[in-house]
Amino acid sequence: MKADVVVIGGGIAGRMVATLLAKKGLTVILVTRGLGATALSSGSFDILGFIDGRLVRDPLEALNRVATNSPEHVYALLGRGREACRIMCKSLGLFKDMIARYLKIEGTFDKNMILPTVIGTLKPCAYAQETMKSGDVNSFNGEHLLIITLKNLVFHEGSELFERILVSGLTPGKVERISHVSIKASGPSLTCSPLTLAKALDKEKAANRFANEISKILASIPGVTRIAIPPVLGVDNVHVVYEILRENVSLPVFELLSSVPSVPGIRLCRALERMSRGAGVKIMTGWEAMKAHVEGNVVRELSVRHELSGSIERIAGEDFVIAYGHILGGLQVLDDSVYEPLLGMTLGSITIFTEPFKTLSFALKIGIKVDDDMRVLIGGEPIGNLYACGAALGGVDPAREGIGMGLALSTAYKVFTSLTS
Ligand SMILES: Cc1cc2nc3c(=O)[nH]c(=O)nc-3n(C[C@H](O)[C@H](O)[C@H](O)COP(=O)(O)OP(=O)(O)OC[C@H]3O[C@@H](n4cnc5c(N)ncnc54)[C@H](O)[C@@H]3O)c2cc1C
Repeated sequence: MKADVVVIGGGIAGRMVATLLAKKGLTVILVTRGLGATALSSGSFDILGFIDGRLVRDPLEALNRVATNSPEHVYALLGRGREACRIMCKSLGLFKDMIARYLKIEGTFDKNMILPTVIGTLKPCAYAQETMKSGDVNSFNGEHLLIITLKNLVFHEGSELFERILVSGLTPGKVERISHVSIKASGPSLTCSPLTLAKALDKEKAANRFANEISKILASIPGVTRIAIPPVLGVDNVHVVYEILRENVSLPVFELLSSVPSVPGIRLCRALERMSRGAGVKIMTGWEAMKAHVEGNVVRELSVRHELSGSIERIAGEDFVIAYGHILGGLQVLDDSVYEPLLGMTLGSITIFTEPFKTLSFALKIGIKVDDDMRVLIGGEPIGNLYACGAALGGVDPAREGIGMGLALSTAYKVFTSLTS
């Protein structure tokens, strides 16, 4: 097998770079084991949410500051100050357009939305799936919020818990009253997973029935101004489901950001699959990249193994891109070290803290080192045709810094520009 570019990893970073390259006319093979962190994500697109534990209001201004003042930060890879901002804006803009047929993304660069999650916390993010935008608490003003919970949803979060935590995080006056109701949503069995319920709602008949039930509830609770719904509004048909709901209730209605398992994460992955396939990327799902064959400072071939059958193939390429994610993906933790399997490199050792989350946070900081053109460094020297992007670069603890998709998309775009310039 042979391609101009071989991309390793089918998360948001790999799909972005593969789609851009295929649209440019290059032959691209994308090898992916399956799903990764992208499938677990909540529905938001985080550029920069916190610096030193403090909430970031303007992610672009904060990115400018970080990329200028902190050369060791992973965002410095995008360039200094305004150049980093230009790459971020360009990559998100391109992505938003390319995926729009399959999934709508909304937001702005210069103001973080503050969106509520299913567990009642508030999360800063620049962009989010369109079904979540009306949950931006910046736009709340003395709302009467109606929280819908679903009786037959197996992982449904307790609305009282949600109410208590959410209200404790809001400034007074944002919400004046909360009502909540449980409804038996359309679904094939008594209790179902969020994904089963979302797939059921993909069918227009079920979505109409669901919207009617909410309308009936609204008629019995006067004064509601906004409606929060668990994140189950369809997988492949989310626009239609959301439109039906909006038409029926005529009020701002929003999905909460998800916990794991995440329907919005799966929804995004399905849209990414359609986006990259639609651009002509050849996708090998269920294949694991095992080894990069390096001659001099150039990768000649990649060995891949089919996870079920065990059969092995070699793929030749002009260029290769690592986009296999972090330790939920291609990087491995062996003997208290983070290890890169394709080239056989140890990237750094993990100090074991007594608190597991501190250890995890530290491990997430370790990643593949790249030069200014995003080429992978071994012992400080770049491999001529091997690039890396996304979570594989490390340097980020998504929960603490509120950095995720923004980094994946911007570094994927930077790899694309390096490869095609
Ligand atoms: C629980 C959780 C929730 C998050 N929520 C958010 C959020 O709401 N918003 C946000 O902006 N960010 C969020 N993040 C961060 C964000 O999800 C990641 O930064 C981003 O998805 C990383 O994308 P990626 O493409 O680099 O990696 P991944 O999405 O992990 O993709 C890696 C891919 O590589 C494949 N792979 C791995 N090894 C191999 C191999 N050897 N051969 C072939 N394929 C391989 C995997 O199967 C996978 O498809 C969250 C992260 C986690 C863990």
